[in-house]
Amino acid sequence: MSISKGIALITGSAQGIGRGIALRLARDGFNVALNDLPNKDAELEAVATEIESLGRQACIVPADVTVDKQVKEMVDEAVTKLGGLDVMVANAGVVEFASLVSSTVESWDRTLSVNARGAYLCYKYAAIQMIEQGRGGRIIGASSAAGKMGFAHISSYTASKFAIRGLTQAAAVELGQYGITVNAYAPGAIQTSMIKIMLDESGNVDYKQLIDNPCSRKWFTSLMENVPIKHVGQPEDIASIVSYLASKEAHFITGQCISVDGGMRMD
Ligand code: NAD
Repeated sequence: MSISKGIALITGSAQGIGRGIALRLARDGFNVALNDLPNKDAELEAVATEIESLGRQACIVPADVTVDKQVKEMVDEAVTKLGGLDVMVANAGVVEFASLVSSTVESWDRTLSVNARGAYLCYKYAAIQMIEQGRGGRIIGASSAAGKMGFAHISSYTASKFAIRGLTQAAAVELGQYGITVNAYAPGAIQTSMIKIMLDESGNVDYKQLIDNPCSRKWFTSLMENVPIKHVGQPEDIASIVSYLASKEAHFITGQCISVDGGMRMD
């Protein structure tokens, strides 16, 4: 086994984008702590086995990222098992589709709890550990194209992904003095379980089952059909930008939220 580049912890890494990031960072030379909900243990074990077959160390640190105590223990356990923490990727997230007027306060609370509170707790406990270690670090969050513009029928998700950008910028200002950079990725549509209700197997969009309002459906369809790069986004497309943000070379980039959306929305 070659010398590791450091230790990375990725939340929500049993599947989808988080799994893609975990495998990419392992290929880059990081030892990896894998987190997801406790009921995803079998999937986490499979990712851990893949990482070990790449010649890197992996450990599993199940936790619900909405629970303060569990996030603290998750970080402590990763540090105990792998020897420190250099990269935190707060990737876990959920989405629920509903129009603003038909949505419920329970759905708002669930979404904000995982996506915003969960990321806040991951940023906080990663920062405490990285400051104590005194060797800098990388904190990376999951925003979305919906963190940069309003999206119909996912108002709570949109609010939670805007929150990631605010959190990322505030943390970047505070943590720069310790050599810790804080950035986020903002994917467009990426073919994972999260949006399988939206995309069929060839990547074509089917909004009929999601959006009952014809006006909102037309808006969504037009947005997706007009993405300049004609490609169905894959977890690897996100993993490659995370790979760069996690690298030493990215030391002068902080407080940014980088779009990986085929040009859906341009700054
Ligand atoms: P996914 O549903 O495939 O995976 C999300 C993972 O997070 C799951 O394994 C799930 O179990 C885990 N998770 C959910 N709640 C958790 C909790 N409380 N504690 C720990 N783990 C929890 O989704 P994905 O497409 O891989 O998305 C990953 C991230 O990227 C999310 O933050 C998502 O909002 C964001 N994103 C995805 C897309 C997309 O099109 N797929 C677009 C923009 C942003």
